[in-house]
Amino acid sequence: MENREIFSSLGNEEPEKLFGKIKTPCYIIDEKQLIENGKILKAVADRTGCRILLAQKAFSNFNFYGVLSQYLSGTEASGLYEAKLGREAMPEGEVHVFCGAYRDDEFDELLSYADHIVFNSVRQLQKFGEKAKRAGKSLGLRINPQCSTQEGHEIYDPCANGSRLGVTREVWDKHMTPDLFSLLDGLHFHTLCEQNSDDLEITLKAVEEKFSDVLPHMKWLNMGGGHHITRKDYDIQRLIKIVSYTQNKWNLQVYLEPGEAVALNAGYLAGRILDVVENGGIKIAVTDVSAACHMPDVIEMPYTPPLYGADDKNNKYKYRLGGPTCLAGDIIGDFCFKEPLKEGDFLLFGDMAIYTTCKNNTFNGMPLPDIWKRTENGELIKLTDFGYKDFKSRLGRE
Ligand SMILES: *Cc1c(COP(=O)(O)O)cnc(C)c1O
Repeated sequence: MENREIFSSLGNEEPEKLFGKIKTPCYIIDEKQLIENGKILKAVADRTGCRILLAQKAFSNFNFYGVLSQYLSGTEASGLYEAKLGREAMPEGEVHVFCGAYRDDEFDELLSYADHIVFNSVRQLQKFGEKAKRAGKSLGLRINPQCSTQEGHEIYDPCANGSRLGVTREVWDKHMTPDLFSLLDGLHFHTLCEQNSDDLEITLKAVEEKFSDVLPHMKWLNMGGGHHITRKDYDIQRLIKIVSYTQNKWNLQVYLEPGEAVALNAGYLAGRILDVVENGGIKIAVTDVSAACHMPDVIEMPYTPPLYGADDKNNKYKYRLGGPTCLAGDIIGDFCFKEPLKEGDFLLFGDMAIYTTCKNNTFNGMPLPDIWKRTENGELIKLTDFGYKDFKSRLGRE
């Protein structure tokens, strides 16, 4: 686990000195890091003329949309609510929507927010396309290039066998009609997850092989998300080459809609140790942070999150960290520390802005962590807090 890059926005300060006064658990979103990410993304857009959108499913902390709008061209939504949020909180930006299937009872409202609407099937295009076109929207169809470039994380691979995401060429040929085709302005593919530009290059080749007869008729090509552009070892020059080549060769506008890359390493989850127990020679620290509730990807992906001051093997004192819930599998991971752990010790998990605040839950009646902002000049501002009402109101009304 190499932590330096992940925690670099802290400078040389000890986390407890910076954040030790605020109630844990809490998320702290780092505006300075968001701006740095934004600058990297904007440089790609400026160099190529492509447009980059925030995929809100990774990060929908709208208090930061104002600052992000200086660097991005708009937002991407997974459905009605995210589309509405994007329109409200980044009103000057474009609003793009992709949804696995749109609903009759939401579609009119969706049209009032969206600029681009991407359909997941030919049938959905047939059902909603004319109406969307009449409302002046730009229409796309998500294709499935059937090109898996990731291993190990099948739940994040839209090209896995039997995937419902995107139209394969075989299905396209079976169902596409000239009338429906004439409604299309663009194509969309999303196949990557935390990947580099070499995998994008491979994917683009597959798209070109399968859809070379279609591309000349398109105004835009949306290359989805999963581009880890703001990671240190990401090959940005290659991305710039790919995007420029695509726009020139096919005479269209390229869109990218990263989520992770926008807010990579731009947040923390702070917690404290509540107890230290042991079982069969394993020392276990119980924390006020729950993997299951507060960082669900730790269990879903699964992965071990970065923790400030800890590593995975070199330090002397090894502990398993787990949440306070009753779920046996609510394990954050095994970590090695320089000193023995004790009750009250402060913990800071890194890279916690993405897929956390918009994905957490109140399982076990766990409180939702408050959300704080660390401003560009280091000031801490509480953005929101949660309590019993947030647990109860999701379950019923009195
Ligand atoms: C998840 C998703 C994204 C963002 O993916 P990241 O891995 O967070 O960059 C973009 N577009 C679509 C359609 C998605 O499903």
